[in-house]
Amino acid sequence: MASSEVARNAGKAKPGEMPSREDELLAARRIYNRTYMRRWRAKPSHAAREQLNRRRSYHDRKLRTARIPRDRYQNCHGELFCAFCRRRPSVMQVTRLTSSAVDASRYVEIRMPYCGEC
Ligand SMILES: [Zn+2]
Repeated sequence: MASSEVARNAGKAKPGEMPSREDELLAARRIYNRTYMRRWRAKPSHAAREQLNRRRSYHDRKLRTARIPRDRYQNCHGELFCAFCRRRPSVMQVTRLTSSAVDASRYVEIRMPYCGEC
């Protein structure tokens, strides 16, 4: 999309309507921000810094997702908790019916951890 199209269709103005003064200002600010960031990234030291930040955030995200427990009813220490009260540790499993992911008209049994008290 060309920048003139962005300027015309900014904000809430429909394609056929004339853009309001607010829309024009918003479009001008967006164009200015875009060109500013292009100039900023064109400088090699800035691009290198951005790359470093991106790699660091990817690494942080990878560590964060590795810490998330795989099971839905597991806490961060890997212990099963009750699927109903979500407080007490699980001592048994109960079966419940849920609608099938494949066929919505059918039900399937699922096993859920249960504390036995709630
Ligand atoms: Zn419970």
